[in-house]
Amino acid sequence: MLKGKTALVTGSTSGIGLGIANALAAQGANIVLNGFGDVEGPKAGIAAHGVKVAYHGADMSKPAEIEAMMKFAAAEFGRVDILVNNAGIQHVATIEEFPPEKWDAIIAINLSSAFHASRLALPAMQKANWGRIINLASVHGLVASAQKSAYVAAKHGLVGLTKVTALENATTGVTCNAICPGWVLTPLVQKQVDARAAAGGISNDAAIKQLLGEKEPSMQFTTPEELGQLAVFLCSPAANNVRGVAWNMDGGWAAQ
Ligand code: NAD
Repeated sequence: MLKGKTALVTGSTSGIGLGIANALAAQGANIVLNGFGDVEGPKAGIAAHGVKVAYHGADMSKPAEIEAMMKFAAAEFGRVDILVNNAGIQHVATIEEFPPEKWDAIIAINLSSAFHASRLALPAMQKANWGRIINLASVHGLVASAQKSAYVAAKHGLVGLTKVTALENATTGVTCNAICPGWVLTPLVQKQVDARAAAGGISNDAAIKQLLGEKEPSMQFTTPEELGQLAVFLCSPAANNVRGVAWNMDGGWAAQ
């Protein structure tokens, strides 16, 4: 379905971004990966779908590096048809104890990077009259939790940016939507499980039960593969008129 298209997925060396990159590659899209850590493993996994894969190591907190990444993607594949703004980090602390530099980093990586990548991707999408921007928000783009001020502010901001991007392109073939997962067991969440297990002197499994039990009625993690399929749907012709939505996949979290 996506043969000949190019998808750039930020923060795709791990977790949800990698799951989405794999799902889009399985549909035939060429992929530009981004993120830190192991690159060769994710690259080989994507190439196994028989598509082209490239990698750019831009730090998404730095606008100049985002600009270099977008230029690299255009030079490599002609243009970016699908942009998935996924890179994100977390820090958990009360507002009065929240390190200001962590606040700045979370706003830069989880929110401002999506603005920069979108503003640079949109002209080519508009020219082609086809494009998909998918912003990885969170259920925390819809509701809040204590001790996550920067994350909740960034994700609510990202849902707002999603709506504006959708509206500004509403009469074109360029759509923009947000995906709002509940808990997904990635390295980002494992750190929170580890902190809970250490604080309570409990096992990993008990910490997971506690974490899910507080917020997620299904008592199940969403998987990167399931989120990948939602991204595939948003890229499909059936989603041509899905615009500016914040679609949760959260085991009932936001329904409470
Ligand atoms: P993860 O830690 O597994 O992956 C994050 C990715 O972002 C990695 O590839 C990492 O290298 C990259 N990254 C981090 N900082 C970066 C930077 N400065 N520049 C470039 N890349 C950077 O996390 P994840 O759980 O897969 O999270 C992906 C997205 O999904 C995030 O935006 C997160 O907020 C969101 N999300 C996650 C969950 C969850 O439960 N895991 C729930 C809702 C939303």
